[in-house]
Amino acid sequence: MERQIKYLLGIFFILCSMVINSNEKNFGIVVHGGAGSFSNISEEKKSKYLSGIDEAVEAGYEVLLNGGSSLDAVEVSVRILEDLPLFNAGKGSVYTLEEKQEMDASIMNGADGLAGAVSGVSIIKNPINLARAVMEKTDHVMLSGSGAEDFAKANGIEIVDPSYFYSEQNLKRVRKMKEDEKMGTVGAVALDKNGNLAAATSTGGRTGKMPGRVGDSPILGAGTWAQNYICAVSSTGHGEFFMRQLTAADVCKLMEYKGLSLKEASYESIDKLTKLGGAGGIITIDSKANVSMPFNTKAMLRAYKTNKQNKEIKIYKD
Ligand code: ASP
Repeated sequence: MERQIKYLLGIFFILCSMVINSNEKNFGIVVHGGAGSFSNISEEKKSKYLSGIDEAVEAGYEVLLNGGSSLDAVEVSVRILEDLPLFNAGKGSVYTLEEKQEMDASIMNGADGLAGAVSGVSIIKNPINLARAVMEKTDHVMLSGSGAEDFAKANGIEIVDPSYFYSEQNLKRVRKMKEDEKMGTVGAVALDKNGNLAAATSTGGRTGKMPGRVGDSPILGAGTWAQNYICAVSSTGHGEFFMRQLTAADVCKLMEYKGLSLKEASYESIDKLTKLGGAGGIITIDSKANVSMPFNTKAMLRAYKTNKQNKEIKIYKD
């Protein structure tokens, strides 16, 4: 009898620890490929966008599934999108008024609150890798222009000739300053099995921007924010508005100070952006792997995959 009770108690404890562990091991990733209208794109182009975002979300998820860090996951996802010409980051970055690429990127680690960012870089193949190097190898948060590029050269970050970023279509865009602003800033937020949150964002900025213009993407709190136990956020849209209201940090602070849920905080922050006249969206994840992806534009390319929810990839509103 005593043995049977011990046996049953043993089973009970194993089941309890499985439940506790499964609660502790929530993880997931959300990725975006820019907000805008996505209205004049062919079916072929649309399917390329979808497969790019799919590849990025799967690669980040794989890192998390194997026990990797959220920091590695967001970097891997963003790097994949930087290498695809379709997106407005890395290879596909748009031109400034002077027909040059000036890229911005940032990354933040919720586990220790460290962050790294670069702005106005023109010869860096993957600005997100350089942002991470700034975080890990310097005492600074942001490096810009030639200083950032010299640091990259000294630290083995891949340098490319500016011709690597050549794109006839992007050149036409800036020459005509057509209304069809290229979408495709990229970003990722993730929660790993250890409960650590991270966020990353990378962009070529806005077509025809003034040389030297810095948008929200490399600005901590505006384009990127990660805070353990609270949330991680990556923004996309008209950067000046995100900078003026610190949208990415706002979401986490609404949760922290007002006790809002991730969804409530994410929507409240986008409401504020709308009132300010700004267009765009955010992807967010919290410490329980809940996700939210509000935007006030016609469309935002986005995808998520978590241990609790199957993968979803979307462009337009639900
Ligand atoms: N937020 C980016 C910027 O203003 C652009 C975008 O997300 O489309 O530089």
